[in-house]
Amino acid sequence: MKSTPVPVERSEKLNLLDLDRKAMEAFCAEIGEKPFRASQLLQWIHQRGVDDFARMTNLSKALRARLADTTEIRAPEIVLAQRSTDGTCKWVLQTDARNRVETVFIPEEGRGTLCVSSQVGCALECSFCSTARQGFNRNLTAAEIIGQIWVARRELGEGRITNVVLMGMGEPLLNFHNVVAATNLMLDDFAYGLSKRRVTLSTSGIVPALDRLAEVSDISLAVSLHAPTDELRNELVPINRKYPIKELLEACKRYIGREGRRKVTFEYVMLDGVNDSPAHAKALVRLLSHVPSKVNLIPFNPFPGANYRGSSPEAIRRFSELLHAAGLIATIRKTRGDDIDAACGQLVGQVNDRTRRQARLQAASS
Ligand code: SAH
Repeated sequence: MKSTPVPVERSEKLNLLDLDRKAMEAFCAEIGEKPFRASQLLQWIHQRGVDDFARMTNLSKALRARLADTTEIRAPEIVLAQRSTDGTCKWVLQTDARNRVETVFIPEEGRGTLCVSSQVGCALECSFCSTARQGFNRNLTAAEIIGQIWVARRELGEGRITNVVLMGMGEPLLNFHNVVAATNLMLDDFAYGLSKRRVTLSTSGIVPALDRLAEVSDISLAVSLHAPTDELRNELVPINRKYPIKELLEACKRYIGREGRRKVTFEYVMLDGVNDSPAHAKALVRLLSHVPSKVNLIPFNPFPGANYRGSSPEAIRRFSELLHAAGLIATIRKTRGDDIDAACGQLVGQVNDRTRRQARLQAASS
């Protein structure tokens, strides 16, 4: 991918995009302003997409000047915008001098889903995911996470983003605090006002963080399961060695056990000859029989150097029929944006890898 680096200036100013309602109210209290100012600020920033304090006409001139002096509204900058033949848009965003993340917008009949990243790279090493190959640099700030919506809304126009999924680069539950602040803003009536059914966090299954999430949030949950046995999941999603399937499913039940929550979506990437046999389908049925769930079968999206092949359409259909026959709800995810490398597991950005994963992979294969 060719594009010129954008120098990102460092700034000592407080970035107001980092603040959810609570934090914004605390900030207003600190500067001697009433709590309702927090709502006004959130509306200007998130609903109206304004980053220039001079335009915030219901704030006093003095307050506007003070905010301009000490704070800023700074979203990541677009370095590359691409549009797929199917209408999917991908933006590469510069987060700091050496790192970039990717955000994808997927328009569908009657809805538009924005897929946002939560980390630069990923610290997990799922064997079939290209983000994993990039290694890991750092967590995104809340401003950089919500900033992806802020930027996409500016580019797309109002009303296009109806759903948000935390399914871009990174493991959201390993960036707990910032992800919670950003999702609070997605749900806040004075910011993006999305319903909890339309904001979905996808996780590889960090069990203790899942329990903590249940305490503070009621967004929808998707879990990257991908295998019906620990033996196979250990290989595909190595974090399973730490949080095996049984513990993960118990945590899922605790999560949806709380009032108003629905089903967990289990993501299952279809890998030819690896996890796609009728026996795997039956094992999956047994596993999920006690969890209110639906299964989303994901056709594997290839990337350079991938060690897997995707299951054939027939194998996917057969697999989904076995799930249906057992009474499970199963859908097959439509692959979108693969011509611009915007499909699941293809987001790579630019990661100044601190884990030296590339070097380790090369050493292991030589
Ligand atoms: N780390 C989180 C968020 C990423 S979501 C998680 O694991 O859930 C991205 C989804 O795409 C996950 O379900 C992931 O397992 C899946 N995925 C990764 N690589 C893929 C690939 N090459 N083809 C299809 N899906 C893939």
